[in-house]
Amino acid sequence: MPINFIPNDPLASEPSMRNPRQQNRRPNRPAGRATFVLTGAVPEAVLPVGTPGFLFWQCREAALAAVETWEGLAGKLTRWARSTPSRRRLALFQNAGTGPDPQEFLNAFYDGQSVQFFEFTGGGKTTFSGASTDVVAHEVGHGLLDSIRPDLWSSNFIEVGAFHEAFGDSIAMLTALADAPTRQTLLGLPGALNAANFLEATAEDLSDGRLRAIGPNDPASQPRHALNTFQWQLPAFLPSGGPPATLAREPHSFARVFTGCLWDTLRNIFAGLAAQDSAALLAAAQTTGRLLVAGARTAPEAARFFQSVGRAMILADQQMNQGANRMAIRNAFTAHNVALGSTVMLAPTAALAGAAPKIAATTAALSAATRRDLGLRLGAAPRAQVLVTPMNIAGERVAHAAHQREVPLGKLHKSLKGVVALATESVLVGAVRGAAALLGAMPDSTSTIDEVTSFVETLLAHDHLALAPAKGAAAVSRRTTHAVTVQRGKKVLSRVGFFCG
Ligand SMILES: [Zn+2]
Repeated sequence: MPINFIPNDPLASEPSMRNPRQQNRRPNRPAGRATFVLTGAVPEAVLPVGTPGFLFWQCREAALAAVETWEGLAGKLTRWARSTPSRRRLALFQNAGTGPDPQEFLNAFYDGQSVQFFEFTGGGKTTFSGASTDVVAHEVGHGLLDSIRPDLWSSNFIEVGAFHEAFGDSIAMLTALADAPTRQTLLGLPGALNAANFLEATAEDLSDGRLRAIGPNDPASQPRHALNTFQWQLPAFLPSGGPPATLAREPHSFARVFTGCLWDTLRNIFAGLAAQDSAALLAAAQTTGRLLVAGARTAPEAARFFQSVGRAMILADQQMNQGANRMAIRNAFTAHNVALGSTVMLAPTAALAGAAPKIAATTAALSAATRRDLGLRLGAAPRAQVLVTPMNIAGERVAHAAHQREVPLGKLHKSLKGVVALATESVLVGAVRGAAALLGAMPDSTSTIDEVTSFVETLLAHDHLALAPAKGAAAVSRRTTHAVTVQRGKKVLSRVGFFCG
């Protein structure tokens, strides 16, 4: 029996993309793969939009479509990042509740254990964030990125948080592009990928709810557009927030720079194909998606993470496609002021003490002399741990060495006295004539401190940091992305979730 499914968003600009269509539901996930724990199941049927039964099947279908798209790009998904003990089951709440506060209930989030969507009535309308395939795929996208890069969860760099958001929007777009009727609709529009359209716009219905309930100055009161001309700037020079047209350093706002780079990569790759039909668009989307996944997997964590991912995409293209899309990627990032000198990333920049690192498929080790030398150059605390892991970047095995710098936050707020934020500083180490060599750039501690300070200021400006210790569950609001936790006797800024209102 078929179900009713809205392929894009309840307020997508094309009728066929916002109206429900009847289709057979996707099968349950095969045994041995990561899946969702569902609640509120109803027998499958063609149910009217706005009913709990419709929402159940709509949200399930959107979440499975996102995972299916991912598996087409990245291979079988067998584990989530954290979630339940087996890491097989992520809870999916298509309607986790309703309430009077639009900031809390015109919202969706991923917290490592679950993806949650809400109901809100206001401004003459009821909005279900779980009814939008865009929004559901975005949240699942956070979970998918977390499954390959669990280390990014706790990053205190603005660009890493913004990349997490851009990745969610990218998964939403790639999920849409995997759907044949969606591609046909897009290609039938004037300008296709090169004009504003329903596919490069995400979360139309949720932003309409916020526009009605909060007003036009709410940063999320307009859909985010991947087709944009936003230019990367140092986030510290951007305002902490602002209306939708303003590029701000708040993660969803700043994410649009990277999403713009990705959409332009797709446009460039598609424009270079001989055919301009649905099959060619699918091929271009898959190429773009695989490059994104490869870039996300291998980009070293750094303050300039957009650049780090873009460079890793170029190197991945070299290995996967003999560099066929090098200019497509480079031109796309350049159009948003992200310069990618990708060869710079693996170029030796300094000789280090000690012999070449020992790098195997799953382990990497630096000599004691190299570790000491690196510790001094990084300005690491005397007994700071330097974590060394192997990395395969474009077929070249290198060692990734990272330490955590503690950035004190006491000057930002009186409640943050004695609290630190951890910032990863990492370098790549390779071999030159049997000796250890630094590859690419060395992080600069002053920049790290500036970046983290600016990140925490932004959290404070948006009320995303729970300052008071939580007294029961109610004390942590749905706006909270961060809290202070105690780790080995130290008060540390920690992420509790991604909040995507
Ligand atoms: Zn998000």
